Amino acid sequence: MADRDGKIWMDGELVEWRDAKIHVLTHTLHYGCGAFEGVRAYNTVNGTAIFRLQEHTDRLFNSAKILRMQLPFSKEQFNEAQKQVVKANKLESCYIRPLVWIGSQKLGVSPKGNTIHGMIAAWAWGAYLGEEGMQRGIRVKTSSYTRHHVNITMTQAKAVSNYSNSILANMEAVDDGYDEALLLDASGFVSEGAGENIFVIKDGVIYTPDLSAGALNGITRNTVFHIAKDLGLEIVQKRITRDEVYISDEAFFTGTAAEVTPIRELDRVQIGAGKRGPLTEKIQTAFFDIVNGRNPKYAHWLTRV
Ligand code: PMP
Repeated sequence: MADRDGKIWMDGELVEWRDAKIHVLTHTLHYGCGAFEGVRAYNTVNGTAIFRLQEHTDRLFNSAKILRMQLPFSKEQFNEAQKQVVKANKLESCYIRPLVWIGSQKLGVSPKGNTIHGMIAAWAWGAYLGEEGMQRGIRVKTSSYTRHHVNITMTQAKAVSNYSNSILANMEAVDDGYDEALLLDASGFVSEGAGENIFVIKDGVIYTPDLSAGALNGITRNTVFHIAKDLGLEIVQKRITRDEVYISDEAFFTGTAAEVTPIRELDRVQIGAGKRGPLTEKIQTAFFDIVNGRNPKYAHWLTRV
């Protein structure tokens, strides 16, 4: 990935992809205190546009605030920079990865005395959990790893360090022949996927864990709240048990990378008819209409680059 043509925004400047490097003594590399975002730009009916750019930038700044990192740039600069990166790499649709980290002036757990840095890269990235999964649904395994308790690494920050938990869960699930992991919280209730929020549907009502289960406040999750309202569907945020997932009629994951991905199986237990459910399909269609600029009600969520 490092060896390719293109431009990466680093600390206020566009640099050559191959030259976007940091020192091995970078504090974040050693201790994991950093934050990132995952953003997508779509080739909409009105040209390339970034989906919910402001909300992603707001969440990045909130993550930095939670991690006590003073970012040396403004939200406006960061929004502009994301547009600039998409344009400079001539991408029609892409995934955008902003990251903020602590520099390499000094090691030791205390980051004081280090400078704070930021980067933004962008590249073409298709369906995160596979095209086939988008149609047929994916197979998920309940992880043997527990999601972070809300008072450990701070679950509302999209913190770099939170992802070793996600990596372990994902690797375990994939090594066991599944597509993705579902993590439970420290009390055993459903939290989220390794990189996705989860929804289940039972008797026409949509359920998703409330954020006290340690799930990230997903922007796609919020988008689904709007879609459900438009479709006249009720959404309830509550504690969910893994067996409620087994006996649900439909289930799906949401995320910027995963978009709206149906789940057809959890722990080898078939969910509903074992394929993408009819309400999931409706939500998925509505989602792709919005991100591709086909729903004027949400035109304000699309920032032209
Ligand atoms: N939970 C986790 C752990 C994630 O990594 C993501 C992806 N950012 C999500 C949920 C979904 O968040 P969003 O819809 O904002 O991408």
